[in-house]
Amino acid sequence: MPDELHMNPEEFRDLGRKLLDYIADYRERVGNLPVLSRVGPGEVAAKLPKEPPACGDSLEGILEDIDEIVMPGITHWQSPGFFGYYPSNSSLPAVLAELLCAGLGVQGMSWVTSPACTELEVRVLDWLAKIIGLPASFRSDSTGGGGVIHGTASEAVLAVMVAARERAKAAEGAGGELTAYCSSQAHSSLAKAAAICGLGAENLRQVEVGRELAIDPGALEAVIEADRAAGRTPFFICATVGTTSSCAIDPVAELGRISRSCGAWLHVDAAYAGSACVCPEFRSMIDGVELADSFNCNPHKWLLTTFDCSTLWVSDRDSFTRALSVTPEYLRSSQGDSGAVIDYRDWQIPLGRRFRSLKLWFVLRWYGIEGLQAFIREQVRLAELFEGLVGRHEGFELAAPRHLGLVCFRFRGSDAENRRLLEEINSGGEIFLTHTVLPMGDAERYVLRFATGSIATREEHVARAWEIIESLAPAAPPGASS
Ligand SMILES: *Cc1c(COP(=O)(O)O)cnc(C)c1O
Repeated sequence: MPDELHMNPEEFRDLGRKLLDYIADYRERVGNLPVLSRVGPGEVAAKLPKEPPACGDSLEGILEDIDEIVMPGITHWQSPGFFGYYPSNSSLPAVLAELLCAGLGVQGMSWVTSPACTELEVRVLDWLAKIIGLPASFRSDSTGGGGVIHGTASEAVLAVMVAARERAKAAEGAGGELTAYCSSQAHSSLAKAAAICGLGAENLRQVEVGRELAIDPGALEAVIEADRAAGRTPFFICATVGTTSSCAIDPVAELGRISRSCGAWLHVDAAYAGSACVCPEFRSMIDGVELADSFNCNPHKWLLTTFDCSTLWVSDRDSFTRALSVTPEYLRSSQGDSGAVIDYRDWQIPLGRRFRSLKLWFVLRWYGIEGLQAFIREQVRLAELFEGLVGRHEGFELAAPRHLGLVCFRFRGSDAENRRLLEEINSGGEIFLTHTVLPMGDAERYVLRFATGSIATREEHVARAWEIIESLAPAAPPGASS
């Protein structure tokens, strides 16, 4: 094998600087690029050679292709004009931590495969639990709790659903079809988890919501009662704190009471909204969380930490890991066998795992609690500002109460007009919004979503966004609604 096969550290030093410059330049100019990629289906693929490269190339050659082939196909999530979906923050301290993570190249499936990978994760999750105000029972220094980083909220809910099923099956007198509950507004990952773990869609009840699109606890109790009368066993309830569509907030305390009375596992899905709990003034939305068995939020959405970083806490780690722990001989270690250490492979679906706590640690240390709070508060303030602009315009209306950084609104016109308005807004390239459909009165309405939270967004960008939206709105008689 020739020595020159690999990039040597000296070359890496030099080329690495070039790549860091490339990223820094990108972040400086990202606000001037059309937010939503303009390529059509197949356009990127058409520029890529059909045949794999026979011989190696230089970094310059690769970067040229990044500029010409990849960049046009990028939607700029870190742009100040990105108001679509929910944000996917990638702060620069987290980017550096990703580089370090790859540079160390650790695979942390067991404590023994890199003790720091496990122990830093344990400590950082204990910190974050404190920062967002979770009860002590979720921390590793409590009798039974602890936290773990998953790739996504979808993996987290699948893992806890499996653990809940194991717990229910082991319970005395369990019988009948196991049944899970969430609201009709819960994330699609609930249905996917039910499908993957073999529960089946017919055993996941999507309970109706009340006026503010949060689950109706009375309706949940009625469904559970009917199921139990029919011999079913409720084993899992998901409370969504901040639904994906409209950021509706299920009443955690009431769902906690219901889950305790029927023995079901209560999972709290706060994928987006959970990050806002770094500010004490937003924590009332998780009141009752001490009744939950698991809590999940995504720092990779709104807490400045590059995708993927989804933090999951459980209050009873034994019933969690019992369901997920399978230890073949070749992974046995004296430390793991003695129970003296955490082997995170037992806390997740895959075996292997990256050193993801590095990026959360970089973020927590770089920003500090004060910095995280300042970021969230400012992005909520910007959403309030936008809400005010919508509210003062007679041609527009709010489609749901604003929670945190999400404003759901619509032009007072037909769904078709709103659809066209969104297309025009996005084709301009300066800003990007997405849509949803929400019940309003007796009808389902096409609604525009405006989510702040992109790290570069400032007041001037929100003002400009409103200017664009207002200028594109069809002229309609005030108060008209079709
Ligand atoms: C975004 C979101 C999810 C899914 O997050 P992933 O990490 O991409 O799986 C789940 N639940 C809610 C409420 C969300 O907003």
